Amino acid sequence: MVSMLCLTFSFFLTEIIFGYVTNSLALIGDSYHMLSDVLALVVGFTSLRVGAICCERSLKLCARKSTNVLL
Ligand SMILES: [Zn+2]
Repeated sequence: MVSMLCLTFSFFLTEIIFGYVTNSLALIGDSYHMLSDVLALVVGFTSLRVGAICCERSLKLCARKSTNVLL
């Protein structure tokens, strides 16, 4: 999970840098898509951590649904 987070964030950084360097709106747009994927992974990773500590079912369900919406 952490490696996916790092990989996705590095894609975001690469795309946004090369998007601005080459004036490519497609790269810049896709970089923000990757940033939303990073956000979804952070929500999923956090829900895994919180789910390991406390076992409140509604919190896990809420985190799972928000990750699905973000991805
Ligand atoms: Zn995506």
